[in-house]
Amino acid sequence: MSIDTQESTTKSRPKAATPAETDGQHGRPAGTVIDYAVRIDWTRDEISALFSLPFNDLLFQAQQVHRHYFDANRVQLSTLLNIKQGGCSEDCKYCSQSSRYETGVDREELMDVKLVMNAARSAKESGAERFCMGAAWRNLKDRDVAAIAEIVKSVKGLGMETCLTLGMLTREQAETLKESGLDYYNHNIDTSPEYYPEVITTRCFEDRLETIEHVRESGMKVCSGGIIGMGEERSDRVGMLHALATLPEHPGSVPINMLVPIPGTPMGDLEPIDTFEMVRTIAVARITMPKSHVRLSAGRRELGETGQALCFLAGANSIFYGDKLLTTSNPEWLQDQELFAKLDIEGEQA
Ligand code: SF4
Repeated sequence: MSIDTQESTTKSRPKAATPAETDGQHGRPAGTVIDYAVRIDWTRDEISALFSLPFNDLLFQAQQVHRHYFDANRVQLSTLLNIKQGGCSEDCKYCSQSSRYETGVDREELMDVKLVMNAARSAKESGAERFCMGAAWRNLKDRDVAAIAEIVKSVKGLGMETCLTLGMLTREQAETLKESGLDYYNHNIDTSPEYYPEVITTRCFEDRLETIEHVRESGMKVCSGGIIGMGEERSDRVGMLHALATLPEHPGSVPINMLVPIPGTPMGDLEPIDTFEMVRTIAVARITMPKSHVRLSAGRRELGETGQALCFLAGANSIFYGDKLLTTSNPEWLQDQELFAKLDIEGEQA
């Protein structure tokens, strides 16, 4: 599978507007009206046109939309803990935790609530506002619901927002988790509907949408995004954002991950996607889902400080904080502190 980096650098795009062609007031290309409305009727053509804007025009538009709804110098901080590692029956081609690939990730049982609480306390002391917990499961089993609900109640008791990602959920399970105090449920759509079968064959795109619907109907907030750099075309990135931005309600959080190739997985030898394509994807997510927290997720280490700063400029306003993101490394806490100091960024609840 080859990475589509050419597309972002060689494809002909509309020429950047000259000063005479702008509205003279805001530097926008003439005729461009910034739409701050929250819309769920985006078309793929509209989203594709945003991707094709000259880079500076796209970032400028994304910044304007971002500043309309958010403080541009604040970033929401979440910490992610793997509460049940490895041994997953699914075949997601990017994942180190699938039992189908030799990745060196050991299978573990569900973590004891006391250990989860220790990690949650330490995350809170480090400034995290939301504590996200992930389990490498295809779906939540009814026999595990009580233990999971106890974990949620305990973490919630620390005064943190809670988020879980446990695979597919039934409507009843979603309601039980909501009653236990769960704020968010993460279920990524991963990629476009068309490219999905190239990434996962053990479930389908519609299964993902069904779980998202159960979460929304239970009253919990949805966290859903995807991964770029899995060999997909730009049209798939358009399709992914289109699927998210046309849900009945935009997800509260939209994680945008850059594939970190894991040796041993079928995607282990892919070349990283071009940083500017990552920045464009963040900017288009910001414009199409203006009130959502757009989360810069996996791939932050690979982006480096400059790449991350561009992503914040493009409208990313949430990160995973801590030194591990499930089984891949993440910039360490101190490095994040240093980067935030350089950029004058503060945590959202600071
Ligand atoms: S369902 Fe989750 S844990 Fe299982 S293989 Fe897919 S991404 Fe990995």
